[in-house]
Amino acid sequence: MDQLQPQLQDRLARPLRDVRISVTDRCNFRCPYCMPAEFFGEHFHFLPREDLLQFEEITRLARFFVKLGAVKLRLTGGEPLMRQQIERLVAMLSGIEGVGDLALTTNGYLLPEKAPALKEAGLHRVTVSLDSLDDAVFRRMNGGKSSVERVLQGIQAAERAALTPIKINAVVQRGVNDHTLIDLARYCKDQGYILRLIEYMDVGNQNGWRMDQVLSADEMAARIDAVMPLEPIEANYQGEVALRFRYRDGGGELGMIASVTKPFCGSCTRLRLSPEGKLFTCLFGTHSTDLREPLRAGVTDADLESIVRGTWGQRADRYSEVRAQLKQPRSHKVEMHHIGG
Ligand code: SAM
Ligand code: SF4
Ligand code: SF4
Repeated sequence: MDQLQPQLQDRLARPLRDVRISVTDRCNFRCPYCMPAEFFGEHFHFLPREDLLQFEEITRLARFFVKLGAVKLRLTGGEPLMRQQIERLVAMLSGIEGVGDLALTTNGYLLPEKAPALKEAGLHRVTVSLDSLDDAVFRRMNGGKSSVERVLQGIQAAERAALTPIKINAVVQRGVNDHTLIDLARYCKDQGYILRLIEYMDVGNQNGWRMDQVLSADEMAARIDAVMPLEPIEANYQGEVALRFRYRDGGGELGMIASVTKPFCGSCTRLRLSPEGKLFTCLFGTHSTDLREPLRAGVTDADLESIVRGTWGQRADRYSEVRAQLKQPRSHKVEMHHIGG
């Protein structure tokens, strides 16, 4: 790595630290807030296999991201465990020098089979999404595709495989699962899992998002604090997006992702790679930079580096900070199941 080069920054002086790699646009769940079944039914055209970046292509790109400052790689999707032989990609990425954190976000359904191979391949840890411990509520939030029990088995398999510390992501939707929040927090506290409560976001174009279904991070914290007292703690690192708290009784920590009510664009250091090789500089992006075409046309390393540098250098995204002033929601945003959370 060339140590003499100045750190890459975007137009708002934000460095590149964190890359989310989406490996598939397919999913075995149909969470209505992400992939409502009425839009993503059996006739929906998912990406054909030949359009997906190959593992060698992803790894080549990841080396550039790390060279340009990224220290954290997260595999996501769609459901990343549906990508065949994902552990082979994990092994390739874990061999890149400079990757401080290699994580994967999953709905957990396939973890009972996959956890040992992922660990063996060099994955550091997993984040498992679980919106409620109430089976009826959870089924409603995953489109009827999984029981709570199945995901808990996945989480336990990850724990046995030492894919730790385990984080649990829960999207909170007022009137849908907010009444089960305390039970989930208590369970995670007892088990030693780090809960991340996510404000329901207006990602994609199909989830029918409404502001009145957003439960603010402040309200989540107040509800939990009333039963299990909390105190705020500092961010772990620059660019951490969660507002972090610890239980006053010493029983661990939890965090809130307040993308809607307390946007954190000013410290957003994330780049996103789509399954077909497009670079997005924002979760709510409408434009992207295609890397697959140059990759398959035999681009040189120098040219590839300059495309990635140029994309980050041009970045001025701050959608969550301007959302409130928009008269109309932004249209034609990339879908969440395509680009990952
Ligand atoms: N399928 C995997 C999973 O569910 O963990 C990985 C991809 S999923 C898109 C990544 C994260 O995005 C999940 O934790 C999910 O709950 C979150 N997510 C999806 N739609 C969301 C929305 N509308 N608002 C907030 N978070 C959302
Ligand atoms: Fe699938 Fe994850 Fe989206 Fe749910 S949130 S539909 S599990 S990609
Ligand atoms: Fe980052 Fe875009 Fe989210 Fe702002 S809205 S925090 S720029 S991904």
